Amino acid sequence: MEKALLSETMFRALPLGSVKPAGWLLNQLHIQAEGLTGHLHEHWKDVGPDNGWLGGEGDSWERGPYYLDGLLPLAYLLEDDHLIAKVQPWIEWTLQSQKKDGSFGPSHLKTVNTEVEDQDWWQDFIMLKVLTQYEEVTHDERVIPFMLKYCHYLKAALLKYPLKEWAMARGADLLLSIQWLYERTGEDSLIELAEQVREQTMDWSTLFDHFPFWRKQKEWDHRIHVVNVAMGIKAPAVFYRQTQNDWEKESVYKGIKSLMTYHGQAHGMFSGDEWLSGTHPSQGVELCAVVEYMFSMENLVRILGDGKFADILEKVAFNALPATISPDWDAHQYDQQVNQIICNAARRPWINAPDSNIFGLEPNFGCCTSNMHQGWPKFVASLWMATQDKGLAAISYAPCQVVTTVAEEVEAQLDVKTDYPFREQVSIKLTLSENTEFPMYLRVPEWCEALEIKINEERQQVETMNQGFAIVKRLWHDGDCIEVTLPMQVQFEERNNLAVSVTRGPLVYALPLGEQWVRVQERERFHDWEIYPKKAWHYALLTQAEPQSRFTKDKVERQPFALDNAPIKLIVKGRLISNWIMENNSAGDPPLNPIPYPHAPIETLELIPYGAARLRIAEFPALY
Ligand SMILES: [Zn+2]
Repeated sequence: MEKALLSETMFRALPLGSVKPAGWLLNQLHIQAEGLTGHLHEHWKDVGPDNGWLGGEGDSWERGPYYLDGLLPLAYLLEDDHLIAKVQPWIEWTLQSQKKDGSFGPSHLKTVNTEVEDQDWWQDFIMLKVLTQYEEVTHDERVIPFMLKYCHYLKAALLKYPLKEWAMARGADLLLSIQWLYERTGEDSLIELAEQVREQTMDWSTLFDHFPFWRKQKEWDHRIHVVNVAMGIKAPAVFYRQTQNDWEKESVYKGIKSLMTYHGQAHGMFSGDEWLSGTHPSQGVELCAVVEYMFSMENLVRILGDGKFADILEKVAFNALPATISPDWDAHQYDQQVNQIICNAARRPWINAPDSNIFGLEPNFGCCTSNMHQGWPKFVASLWMATQDKGLAAISYAPCQVVTTVAEEVEAQLDVKTDYPFREQVSIKLTLSENTEFPMYLRVPEWCEALEIKINEERQQVETMNQGFAIVKRLWHDGDCIEVTLPMQVQFEERNNLAVSVTRGPLVYALPLGEQWVRVQERERFHDWEIYPKKAWHYALLTQAEPQSRFTKDKVERQPFALDNAPIKLIVKGRLISNWIMENNSAGDPPLNPIPYPHAPIETLELIPYGAARLRIAEFPALY
């Protein structure tokens, strides 16, 4: 059989706007719009009116496109005309910036005596991702010809100025847009370009197939840069669509396993306070890496159709993402720590600046300030996907509304009502233009041993399972109601040196330390804050004692990821120990043999969702 130019993905993304947020997730997007995402351009000159992507003299590299990559989907998901009006000038300037040869954007040619010496392509890749989203939601007819013209230009230009540095590490993000364009136009020359780009991109497949980075890294190198790695993990699957080499698909799995073994952290990410930095729970994880890893998981589940990637996606989205942004979205960190006992400017064992774990406008460096906005909106857009057999797949159970077509052009609306992941029940109500048969793929998370599905109150036997999805194929009727129950067990997850983290379903739990927020830099808005603890942190957990879960709120508050709003708590037993001390302004390594203070009583401790505690312990020494 002749090989397809581009292999099919297991699932297809629904166009932006097909999945709308609801419930607590809608609130999250509103909070984001009221905070940094909706107002950054008014308070941070790098994405203000002088930005190069608006025709100004200011930053002309990644910051404008990064900001748009989150602001645009947010604006359209909220159907917020005010925000949409803020997006449009960027799009107009970009579309009108295209030159005769097909190039676009602020000029990045570095000239030496009028001879062009260098060309950085990276910022273009981000803007192309922005434009694909814009086209999906507006159907603006200018976008596809614009992208085709650019691709023709790029094919010749890459011979003279091949991908290097950031662009070389991040070539898979360009491939996503080229593959997107090919799926819409069928132009064979795009596949030739895609091959050229693949060949010039860093060989992530081989790196993850035979992972050589076992320890904390110290040297400047694109291969160990945490954000590059978070982006690069999707590359072998993106390449696979072109090469159809099965080993490349496998290298994604091997890569994730290696990353978690040598650099894994309790919240589902791997560490990287610039470079991959080991499993110590006081090493940092950069916010850019969090949102990029989420985007990688969204693409991996789309391409490979494996629910495992959705498990990781949820873990990162529900824990690492909210934890590193202030509850009102007025400040963010550059680096978060799983065990984070103080957020202040102090030397820590990382290469990033001393202010990297404070909450502020631009701690350490402004990449996260501009790139953080894509996290929630792209998560929303990926909650449901289309399947190749004309059905629908639930990637995550967060609350939303889906409007799309199924089977042979039957209009379908799904209303997903739930407080998941804070609760176990999910209700999906179907509205159909006519009764029709199609498959529904319901994800069965790996942590969930006894998932239950009821349709119109009748319990279902799930017959087909595929890569973490239960497939229910039947004649669906308008008004059908699917109820999914995902029983969540409290688990002590073993970590390095027999330390433990505590999970229940997709949520990781942490001991909150109380928070005293101290304003250290005042601005008109978006101040910088240090946070100091109010309570002791050096507890070991008694892992033989059965933890209890307790719902602390009848309803999930507008911002559940805040210290006082935790919708659920876990009750555990712990003791203060004497041999766990501060090192380098952080909690030291959890001791292998914790020694309780002689008279320290066994205490009842309340753990809250990790994302709600800005100061916390989430990896504990274990007492048996
Ligand atoms: Zn960053």
